[in-house]
Amino acid sequence: MARKRGGRGSSSRTDMLDEALVSLDRSRGPLFLEKQEQNSNTPGRPDGHRDPNCCRRPQNRMRISDLEAIDISRAFSEKPHLKGKLNKVLAKMGQSLTFIGDTNKAQPYTCPLLDGETCLVHRSAKPIECLAIRDDESFSSEGKRSIVRRDQLNKDLFADKWDYKSIPLMLATYLLDAEGPALGKSGSTLRKEQQKKKRRESTGRLDTEDRSK
Ligand code: SF4
Repeated sequence: MARKRGGRGSSSRTDMLDEALVSLDRSRGPLFLEKQEQNSNTPGRPDGHRDPNCCRRPQNRMRISDLEAIDISRAFSEKPHLKGKLNKVLAKMGQSLTFIGDTNKAQPYTCPLLDGETCLVHRSAKPIECLAIRDDESFSSEGKRSIVRRDQLNKDLFADKWDYKSIPLMLATYLLDAEGPALGKSGSTLRKEQQKKKRRESTGRLDTEDRSK
């Protein structure tokens, strides 16, 4: 099982982790746009969803990094649409773990985040490669850029102490973590809050300028 990285630690460490989660979320934007364009001629596949068959055994061999596992685990602790879903995900995670070994090699398994035909973390904490991968399992230049960015964010935070493993292995490390880095807001929530704060500040500046005229 992957060892847990990056405890809550000092406030600057916590800030670094929050910033990394925001950057990770920012990397998803261009990939959603790209997916929407790719899928515009594919009926029934709106909004860049992956073909659910690709998320099941034997096709699915997706791996994620520590930072992505932290983001997903945080999403389960705070996103309203994921409320009450954790136990089912944990049960599916347990089933998936019976099919795979504790290795960072790619292995076939059914993703515990697949709920019927949809991905539970699609708009909230989607792994970068789930967005970047094409139907022929290649990656676009944009996809490759986002993967390099994800890896760099992990290196900046954890140096060489981070993993890249099957989703159930990584989630097993963080989903039940009540005290460590998985406690807090996910990247998408933090980014929205940053955007709102910037808008408020810019409105405040304009009001001040108007009053001084
Ligand atoms: S995270 Fe979502 S898209 Fe990725 S393999 Fe799991 S269900 Fe599929």
